[in-house]
Amino acid sequence: MLAATSIPGKIVKDTTVPAGANNYVSEIPPGRRLRIIDIGGQQAVDFLAFDLSNTEIRYNNANSIKLNRTIYVTKGFKLYSDVAEVLMTVVEDSVGRHDTIGGACSSQVNKLRYGIEGTCACRDNFLVALAGRGMSAKDIHANVNFFMNVPVEADGSAEIVEGLSTPGDFVELRADKPTLVVMSNCPQFYNPCSGWNPTPIRVVEWDPQ
Ligand SMILES: [Zn+2]
Repeated sequence: MLAATSIPGKIVKDTTVPAGANNYVSEIPPGRRLRIIDIGGQQAVDFLAFDLSNTEIRYNNANSIKLNRTIYVTKGFKLYSDVAEVLMTVVEDSVGRHDTIGGACSSQVNKLRYGIEGTCACRDNFLVALAGRGMSAKDIHANVNFFMNVPVEADGSAEIVEGLSTPGDFVELRADKPTLVVMSNCPQFYNPCSGWNPTPIRVVEWDPQ
């Protein structure tokens, strides 16, 4: 945890986000750092990003996979938009693997997969967060999942498995464009994306000095 909480600059925002029906929304100016700390370990954080100057331009998963030549996110991974601009870059990562393909959990998929109705889910957290910005379901796009682990096998099969992060691991992004970020601290109890036990995250925004 010591490395995660050592901030070599001026802290602008420092927020703890519980798991459950919660979200984190922020406008990040270019150069600002966004550090996401996994307090308890193995905690998926579903992440949307938009060009703040025109939120119809969003993070584009397929572009990012093509241009980074990998489906796994780690230090150096650039988050490209629909029009191939770099919205953000991963500048630090103590884990080494985050997911691009698993998408956000939803009560509908939970019902199909686990037979349980009315579960708390990232899609609903996104909808609440987006509504606060005058945005809606059409703004939800294929997203990055920090701290989530979805290995793809040689035969193409893929499954959500337990994450590689331990308490105090963190990932940090730098905004390269003015960016709107929307996060859901995943409340999933029914698969291992959040270690079967969703826990809080800490989000620190800071400016290098
Ligand atoms: Zn989720």
